[in-house]
Amino acid sequence: MTFEEKIVDKNLTLYCSSNLKLFADEFKSYFYKNINKIKNFLDITEPIELVIALTDKKEEADFVYGQSSFSGYFNDKGAFAYIQLNGKKTKEYMFKGLMHEIIHHLYKYYVYGEEKERITWVDEGLAQLLSGQKDSLQEKQAFKNFVKENLKEDSDINLNELNHNDRSFGNQNGYNLSYIAIRYLHDKLKSKEFLKLLQDEKRLKSVGKGILKEINIYYNFETANVIDNVVKKSR
Ligand SMILES: [Zn+2]
Repeated sequence: MTFEEKIVDKNLTLYCSSNLKLFADEFKSYFYKNINKIKNFLDITEPIELVIALTDKKEEADFVYGQSSFSGYFNDKGAFAYIQLNGKKTKEYMFKGLMHEIIHHLYKYYVYGEEKERITWVDEGLAQLLSGQKDSLQEKQAFKNFVKENLKEDSDINLNELNHNDRSFGNQNGYNLSYIAIRYLHDKLKSKEFLKLLQDEKRLKSVGKGILKEINIYYNFETANVIDNVVKKSR
């Protein structure tokens, strides 16, 4: 890939096409505003070194799927993205999308361990949780509604069987189900416990087998209680 612009700032190196210079500068501020919270959450204390590369040249972006105006991926250096500024995606969407890829990088290289087998639902759930992509679901009630909408027929799914090898992950509602599982675990466990689980390949795989079923039961019982109370109060 060729990049006309290069911005170096502390441990962050940004490469971009000339049309994306302003976008890259703005993203840099966004990054600094959000990165400490993410590092604290993941208990990363050492300085992180990151390369972020942004291109608007479709012919160079062989990782682009379909016609999306934003497509990102990560590797051992950092995060990369194809960006089409006048496409349908908003700037906020793309900033969060870039943070999503950065979180994949941080999780793999600073928290989980690169030698371990990647567990897609954990990785995708965590990236959505910490990037702010699902911030509209922060309220308990909003999350509950989201669970009900998405878990209707899917509670028997073994999450470990969802993977990224083809596009079926997105088609099988993989992103939403991954978010639901990770958010549920995050809300249920103490932060130290949650972080410990995120590092434990064996336990994660065992959790992945039945967690959606547990969540389904949890929310259905809660619903039953709520209905029960409503009925009692109405007497
Ligand atoms: Zn991802």
